[in-house]
This record gives sequence, C-alpha cells and structure tokens, in this order.
Amino acid sequence: THPVYAKIEGPIVMIGFGSIGKGTWPLIERHFDYDHDRFTVIEPDARQHDFLREQGLAFDDTALTPDNYREVLGRLLEPGKGFCVNLSVDTSSLDLMKFCREIGVPYIDTVVEPWAGYYFGTTDNAKRTNYALRQAVRDEKAANSGGTTAVSCCGANPGMVSWFVKEGLLTLAKDTGHDATAPSDRAGWAKLMQSLGVKGVHIAERDTQVRLEPRPRGVFVNTWSVEGFISEGFQPAELGWGTHEPWFPENAHRQEEGCRAAIWMERPGAVTRVHTWCPTPGPQFGYLVTHNEAVSISDYYTVGEGHDPEFRPTCHYAYHPCDDAVLSLHEMFGSGETQTEHHILGEDEIVEGIDELGVLLYGHEKNALWFGSRLSNEEAKTLAPYQNATGLQVTSAVLAGMVWALENPNAGIVESDEMDHARCLEVQRPYLGPVEAHYTDWTPLQDRWELFDENLDTDEPWAFRNVLAT
Ligand code: NAD
Repeated sequence: THPVYAKIEGPIVMIGFGSIGKGTWPLIERHFDYDHDRFTVIEPDARQHDFLREQGLAFDDTALTPDNYREVLGRLLEPGKGFCVNLSVDTSSLDLMKFCREIGVPYIDTVVEPWAGYYFGTTDNAKRTNYALRQAVRDEKAANSGGTTAVSCCGANPGMVSWFVKEGLLTLAKDTGHDATAPSDRAGWAKLMQSLGVKGVHIAERDTQVRLEPRPRGVFVNTWSVEGFISEGFQPAELGWGTHEPWFPENAHRQEEGCRAAIWMERPGAVTRVHTWCPTPGPQFGYLVTHNEAVSISDYYTVGEGHDPEFRPTCHYAYHPCDDAVLSLHEMFGSGETQTEHHILGEDEIVEGIDELGVLLYGHEKNALWFGSRLSNEEAKTLAPYQNATGLQVTSAVLAGMVWALENPNAGIVESDEMDHARCLEVQRPYLGPVEAHYTDWTPLQDRWELFDENLDTDEPWAFRNVLAT
C-alpha cells in the first residue's frame, strides 16, 4: 500500500508524455486522490498516442506554442484548482507558469525550458545560457512575489540534488563535530556551508546502464530525453563561480545582470570535460553540461551581498552519461551533424547498470563527501512501472515537488533549494534505491598523466583550473 498524500480537486493537465511524463503518471495515480476522468495529457507526438489510448488516458495532440498556450491550457484547466505538470520540451516554462499563477493553478516543471528555436536560434551565446533562462524566472519571482505555488526545476537535477546538498551538509556537520541542526532559512544554510569549509559542489553523476545491442552508428542513444540532452549539450558550458577560485578561464565570461553567481565559457558543455569522482568508478571524466542547479546552488549558498560576496561555492554538473550517450556525443560533435534517429533506453532492454547521481561537496576538513542515490535499473523496475533508473530519480522528485506544492499552495515561485528538503526527500526516498554518503581523499590533483605538464595549481587542489580537463 502506497501513501496517498493529497486530494487534488479539478483537472490535472500533464504537458508532454515522453520518458518523464510516462513515468510520472503512475506515481500521480498511486499517490494522489483525484478524478481520473479529469486527467489530460498534452502530447503532440503520435508515437505516444497508442500507449495513452491503451491506458485510457485522455489526450490533446496540440503542440503548445506562444500563440495557442493560453487557449489550450485555459480550456483544459480550471481556475483555482487542479494541477499543471509540465514535462515537455520546446515550451516556455516561464510563460506556462505565469499563466497558471494568473488563474490560480499550481504548477511544476523540471527545467526552465524555452519555446522551440531558442537553443539554436542565435549565435549570441550569452543569450543561450541557463543563467539567462533562470534569471528571467527569478525576475518574475521578484516582480510578483507570493501567490499560487509554481515549482521551478524540480526533477533529479535540477531538483533532488539541491535536497542532497542540504542532507550532505548536515551529514558533514555531524561527522566533523559541528552543530548538525538544520538551519531555518537561506542565510543559515549558506553560513553552514561556509563554516564547514565547503568550497564547491560537483553534481557528480555516473550512469552505467547498458543494453546488449551495440549502439548503431548514427543513432543518438540516451537514458532520458535525447532532444533535451542535445539542446543543453550545445549550450555554453556554465558554472556557479566560487569565491575561492584563484584563476579565471580565458574563454569565460561573467554576467552583468541579475545574481551574477555564474560564469559561462565559449564552448559547448557536452565537449567540456572535468575531472570528478563518483563512488562506483572513483575518479572519472564528466561533462560540464550547463544546468539550472549550477547557478541556483551557487546563488543560494552565497554569504554577503553585491558583486564581491564574502563566500560563494563553485558549482557545476559533472556528468558521465551512459556509455552509449558518450559515444553518441563523440559521433555528433566529431561529425558536426546531429543524429536524426534518437533512442531512449527502455527499462526492459537495459540489462544492467545504475544511475549514480549525487553531490560531491569538496574542499572541507574531510576533503570530499559524495552524497546521493545509487539506483539500479533492476531495482527501479520493482518500484514503479514505465521507466528506467534515470527516469525514476526524476519522476519521484516531481512527485515530491507536487506534494510540497499542495502542502504549500501559496509559496509563489520556488526552486528546489527553497523547499523543505526533509519533507521532499521523505516522499521521494522510497524510489531512490540506496541513498549513501561516501567520503574520499581524491582531489583533482591525483591520478593525472604525470608524463605531461598540465600547469596545475598545487596550492589549491580544488581550483577549477585543476578540475577542468585540458
Ligand atoms: P522526451 O523527449 O522523452 O519527451 C518530451 C515530450 O514533450 C515529447 O513527448 C514531445 O512530443 C513533447 N513536446 C514537444 N514539443 C511540445 C510542445 N510544443 N507542446 C507539448 N508537448 C511537446 O523528454 P523527457 O525525457 O520526458 O524529458 C521531459 C523534460 O524533462 C525535458 O525538458 C527534460 O529536459 C526534462 N528533464 C529534466 C530532468 C531533471 O532531472 N531535472 C531529467 C530528465 C528530463
């Protein structure tokens, strides 16, 4: 028996029924009391329609655009009730969330997504950053505070990893003899991170899920949205920029407007490699793919105001996707051509592997702590249907975010850093497999190629200069 967390009166509209939508639906069904006749999916891709029909789910095949979204959503939603769950690509999270708040409908998404065309529509790389996308949502929050809850970026990452940062900080505090009481506000959390000596955070992920069939040439294979991964992979590499950094990358730019917590580099994230660490492989390469949480975490944990804060952590994604996705990226960037055939590995074709997704808190007295979920596909299949391990880490975060939103209906626009991490993890944890803390004495100075001089900074082992692969 699964806990039912809330009753949802009125219509639930799910936008997008790809790998994440398909996996979120059974969790909604399991954990909320709602009128099943009032659940509608907006899904333009005909390939998803058979499944929707088989399951008896009502759907609308309109692709949302800037011109039609108010009409379509206005028709399907009911003011002041229900829920809008946005799990699509190519729709503007900001526009959809503004509309939902206007009519008093709670809203959640897993990424700040723009309308179609944004990712490849300009050569002005500063405009293609996640910083710009996020800042627009933060500006909307500042301009219209409070009101109906809209949860921004509540998947696995961005999303759950922000809750792991807090859990990791409390673990580190306890293990180093500091006060391990959870702070009650943002400033308190930032002070806690600073006082523990944490210099930065890698969102350190290793996906080892594989299928038996070798990847066919010309097919982009991944464990979640191929479209989403290609889009973010071609955005500039981007990271929250910490106050301990003694060096500044030559090809990097600071931001002039907004919170200024992040910098971006003149390179696509998915070809920018960093040295990082996860429990299964130990040291490994990850890709510095831009992500909302890299900016939000650096922003959230800032101590002090203005352009020259007293403390700010460096934060970035360090992603080793599944091996087939690594080969797919290699092929795509090498050929200069994006594969037109895409494939998301299904839970039944994956024969082994886990998605090991956590946060590596580094620079403190115990050097580095990885805290995260090590969910296998095999276990995921026993926990919930229609998704692999990667999917379940995302969809269970959506579930947790929805529960939190229903329990906090007038919180305005929030990011996962701003939610009650303990409550959210309580809801999510049954779906995460082993959630573990691992300390390591590894630093980016170790396990290098000693025959080549890499111009490393030996005074500051955790400097980004050492993390960035040459
Ligand atoms: P997917 O590619 O499998 O599915 C996306 C769906 O959106 C498709 O079915 C597509 O038809 C639909 N869609 C496309 N254009 C649309 C439009 N104009 N209107 C309505 N629907 C439209 O992707 P996915 O793996 O299910 O991921 C969905 C979203 O979740 C993506 O934005 C992805 O970046 C995000 N995501 C976030 C996390 C996280 O941890 N935060 C993890 C995975 C995915």
